[in-house]
Amino acid sequence: MGGDGAVSSPAGSLQVRADVLQAPAPGVAELLHDQLITVVDGVITDMSSAPAPEPNVPARLDGVLMPGLVDTHIHAPQWPQLGIGLDLGLEQWLFDLTFPLEARCADTGYAADVWDHMVPTLLGLGTTTAVYHASTHVEATTALAEACARHGQRAVIGRVAMDHPEGTPEWYRDADAAAAVSASRRSIDEIRGLGSSLVQPIITPRFIPACSDAALVGLGKLAADTGVTVQTHAAESDWQHGVVMERTGLRDVHALESFGLLRDHTVLAHGTHLDASDLSRLAATGAGVSHCPLSNSYFANAVFPARRVLDARVRVGLGTDVAGGPSASLWHNAAHAVTVSRMLSDGVDPNGAAHRGEVRIDAATAMWMATGGGADLVGLPVGLLAVGRRFDALQVVVDDRSGVRSVSPESRAHDDVASEWLERVMRAPDVRAVWVDGIAVV
Ligand SMILES: [Zn+2]
Repeated sequence: MGGDGAVSSPAGSLQVRADVLQAPAPGVAELLHDQLITVVDGVITDMSSAPAPEPNVPARLDGVLMPGLVDTHIHAPQWPQLGIGLDLGLEQWLFDLTFPLEARCADTGYAADVWDHMVPTLLGLGTTTAVYHASTHVEATTALAEACARHGQRAVIGRVAMDHPEGTPEWYRDADAAAAVSASRRSIDEIRGLGSSLVQPIITPRFIPACSDAALVGLGKLAADTGVTVQTHAAESDWQHGVVMERTGLRDVHALESFGLLRDHTVLAHGTHLDASDLSRLAATGAGVSHCPLSNSYFANAVFPARRVLDARVRVGLGTDVAGGPSASLWHNAAHAVTVSRMLSDGVDPNGAAHRGEVRIDAATAMWMATGGGADLVGLPVGLLAVGRRFDALQVVVDDRSGVRSVSPESRAHDDVASEWLERVMRAPDVRAVWVDGIAVV
């Protein structure tokens, strides 16, 4: 719990002294030496150079202090299948493996056991905020919100709506559109009723192929009535893109807008098949993309052009997409985001697609998506260590078992020390302590 460099007082205040390392904007790495951060009731109220040692100033933490990571797309009920089934196509993966596992959450006790393993594990990896797709079950979804509140993880939690008779199995779907909407409304009420400042609901139609038009219209109205934000999958794969186009005659983003689901802070997972008209609608509405680079490598039939989407002034966060992505670590996903951007830039087939030009991203951009970008996507005041933000933070050192060199920031003189340090930490993180809302949770 915390480190030697953190001192709590009984009045709900905390002081932490550390070198701060973060990405305040895409492509920008910032290293602030020896900061003393004061936190009152979960909010950073002061952050400035630490004074000379004196009795009441805590010792400086080893390693660096970073903002907590924001996973903008993760499927809680798929936690038990993390790392397996990734030789299948998306449709087969859903129907043969994933839907049967999610259906088990009808047993709330089973689901609660999964949540009690998952939430502390994610916190230990540095994921201080998670934007969850739960299952279709209201009770299991409420249990997830309770688990997040109990373990101290900030979370945005969606009870999954899915009622389409062709897009879902008959043993795992809402009975009809009215049931899909009413259960979603009940889930919002139950999560809000917990009264935890850490957890909030999000309206979650799984994706257009899994939902009837009537359900999508009803959920759009529910979002307008309640002010609750929306998440779904969009423009993910050739298969999904084709199904939506055939059924609605519209591209995915435009169809979602027609249903009232493209709103400020709407989270669209994947977005690998977005075109210029889609991007302009996202920028205009304040919706954005959860970039899931590991999952996309298995299921998306395309590389998400993160650089171009950011240049279009569209919000972008990072997601693990557990278990379509085989790692629960946002660090792995940030590193892979850099890798796939290089593959997109340079081409992957010497006899096929032409090179795509300058679409690479660097570690600072990837880590920004994993922190401030994700926070901006979902509209939470985290993702950056600065006065006024909630104190969701990590003490991280470079894992010296990795082979990545762990050198002290002070021992380096050149201007790139911040970006180099950020890259080393992203490649080989060893998370030593975690705070959420000013509370030590790991
Ligand atoms: Zn997903």
